Amino acid sequence: MSTVPDIATLRAYQPRPDLLNDRVILVTGATGGLGRAAALSFAAHGATVILHGRNRRKLETLNDEILAAGHPAPALALIDLEKAQAPAYFDLRDQLASQYGRLDGLLHNAGLLGGLMPIEHHPVDLWHRVMHVNLTVPFVLTQVLYTQLQASPDASVVFTGSGVGRRGRAFWGAYAASKAGVENLVQTLADEADGQGTLRVNCLNPGRTRTPMRNKAYPAEDPATLPDPDSLMGPYLFLIGPDSRGINGASLDCQ
Ligand code: NDP
Repeated sequence: MSTVPDIATLRAYQPRPDLLNDRVILVTGATGGLGRAAALSFAAHGATVILHGRNRRKLETLNDEILAAGHPAPALALIDLEKAQAPAYFDLRDQLASQYGRLDGLLHNAGLLGGLMPIEHHPVDLWHRVMHVNLTVPFVLTQVLYTQLQASPDASVVFTGSGVGRRGRAFWGAYAASKAGVENLVQTLADEADGQGTLRVNCLNPGRTRTPMRNKAYPAEDPATLPDPDSLMGPYLFLIGPDSRGINGASLDCQ
């Protein structure tokens, strides 16, 4: 395994402008705070980005923004992760295979906070919804797309972690448990991928970031005190791109 960079090195990472040229990368939750920044940044560095979201209008707006900037034309994947059944994922796999014949990167970014409450009062149905979107869907998507990822000469799968996934905290209920599951799933996948080819699987924790989810979790916080998603894109570009080759099974922090 290559050396895992520390936070300061990751934050100082300077990607080449053409870092992701000719790569096809799927970003889930591309219409949200961090996902949107990642999709724009990947496209700006040459990737053809598959924009996933559940809201057609938001997806089309992002698509137009990427085209207007002169970046490679994206594709849209409209899937509500809470409602989707198996055929939606197989359709996505087939669309990628027929349209591009390759998949070089997968950023599991979509996430659901659920709500902050003690376990004693945590609704069971909310628990299921959060675990489904945050943990089961990344498992399913990775499984469905695994063959395509393995076929890439240099594929990277990046899961999105959280501080509460490393150590649980009062009131973070299903969200914290789902993110702990993500860390563990990354370890399992990375171990399975080890020595099997070039596919690597890692986890990235953005840390406190100015997004709608953070605002929901901390409504009294002044957003101006938080880092903007764009300022964290160095670590995302590093992990999804060729410079992280050889790093597998790591759990990294952006801040
Ligand atoms: P946002 O709420 O801004 O974005 C979440 C994204 O997930 C949105 O695009 C949202 O779609 C999408 N999403 C949620 N539910 C579904 C669904 N059922 N179907 C399809 N898409 C869905 O959150 P952030 O940008 O803050 O979070 C991105 C990731 O970073 C998450 O995994 C989060 O857990 C993690 N994270 C964030 C931190 C922070 O401080 N912001 C800290 C640590 C981790 P839509 O746009 O339609 O709402």
